[in-house]
Amino acid sequence: MNLPFKSKKIPNIHTKVVDLDAYWMPFTSNRLFKKEPRIITQAQGRYYTDSDGRKIFDGLSGLWTCGAGHCRREISEAVSQQIRTLDYSPSFNFSHPKVIELASRITELSPNDLNRVFFTNSGSESADTAIKIARAYWRQQGLSSKTKIIGRSKGYHGVNYGGISAGGIGANRALFGDGIDTDHLPHTLLPKNNFSHGLPENGKHLADNLLEMIALHDASNIAAVIVEPMAGSAGVIPPPKGYLQRLKHICDQHNILLIFDEVITAFGRIGSYFAAEEFGVVPDIITIAKQITNGTQPLGGVIVKEQIYQCFMKNAGPEHRIELPHGYTYSGHPVACAAALATLDILENDALLECSRNLAPIFEKALHSLKGLPYVTDIRNYGLAGGITIASAPGEPTLRPYQIAMSCWKKGFYVRNGGDTIQLGLPFTTTKDEVDLLINAIADSIRELT
Ligand code: PLP
Repeated sequence: MNLPFKSKKIPNIHTKVVDLDAYWMPFTSNRLFKKEPRIITQAQGRYYTDSDGRKIFDGLSGLWTCGAGHCRREISEAVSQQIRTLDYSPSFNFSHPKVIELASRITELSPNDLNRVFFTNSGSESADTAIKIARAYWRQQGLSSKTKIIGRSKGYHGVNYGGISAGGIGANRALFGDGIDTDHLPHTLLPKNNFSHGLPENGKHLADNLLEMIALHDASNIAAVIVEPMAGSAGVIPPPKGYLQRLKHICDQHNILLIFDEVITAFGRIGSYFAAEEFGVVPDIITIAKQITNGTQPLGGVIVKEQIYQCFMKNAGPEHRIELPHGYTYSGHPVACAAALATLDILENDALLECSRNLAPIFEKALHSLKGLPYVTDIRNYGLAGGITIASAPGEPTLRPYQIAMSCWKKGFYVRNGGDTIQLGLPFTTTKDEVDLLINAIADSIRELT
């Protein structure tokens, strides 16, 4: 029991006993948090309010989720209307209007013939669903040995077994034992790209490592390559110029599906609806989540090429058979779909992709002004995403970023620490003044490091 916390008054919590110890927090140093809790009680626009009544700027748009700003009236009205009209509907064998509308809206926005959407509830579920679809796609065609998934070092595809296996962040895998059969391309962080603005010049050749993997494993055993077109959770790693094109070319030549995990990049973060469109490379499968509902409801999805969908339709046997024995109780939940439709309206009506694009160069300039500060060994950016690498304290690579993030919080700014990096994902309507204040707070927090 942590008595000091129990004695603290936390607004909006009305249970008889407020026991912080009862709560096991995700991706959090629970022991430290419980000594000094940070409780968020409200949000509006680009700001949180904490339990001390302080306003805190949201420098990561939630967890890359809330680019359109918090507590948008249009979304809460759509959610409230939906929950009063159809609060739940089974999605196995039955459907409802909102999910059909949402699938249609998404495929209008998605590139080329990526025109079939399977709904999930999160990015992790989207990654695992995409992996299952890729493996099943080959098996349906009699190519059952094509099961291996190639991920990339420093990749993040959520926390389910497919995702952590294909993912390339060691700390997320170390504790959990065997996953699925995977191998990993090298990451694309090259020292000579340090402090690149936007897409780095060097590193296209790193895609050729896929050829070595094909030589080692044989394409007949590889189902798919899964990468984030721009890595987010490892600290924002934009793709080197030409890299994604090369990866796609090799995949096509060797009959390997390419999956883009766009859980962070889709719906405005980098100024386009999809990174596929932004970078001019169309994969076979795209995963989405996060910004699709502006973070207000859990919803994810997997968008596949027509040919993949048709393969399932053709090969499943008699019509009454289920073509893809996969899905979640909450797949395409009507309330989540209502939130997503309202979010897509906001992105369009408020021209938020344009806002995101217009702010990007201002953010880039401010972010790179941190170069030269102690411990700052690299800075990367694309769109409204930025990453700062911080030199490791002896034996503790995650300590300094944690200290910086906590110091920023005390100054009224929320930023994310992840591994040896600080990550930024600005709300799409951030002003220049807010950018400057945020960057100054980060600079001061870095200078405070001992
Ligand atoms: N894929 C990517 C690229 C992500 O960035 C994330 C989360 O940050 C996920 C998957 C997992 O999403 P979720 O936390 O919704 O399961």
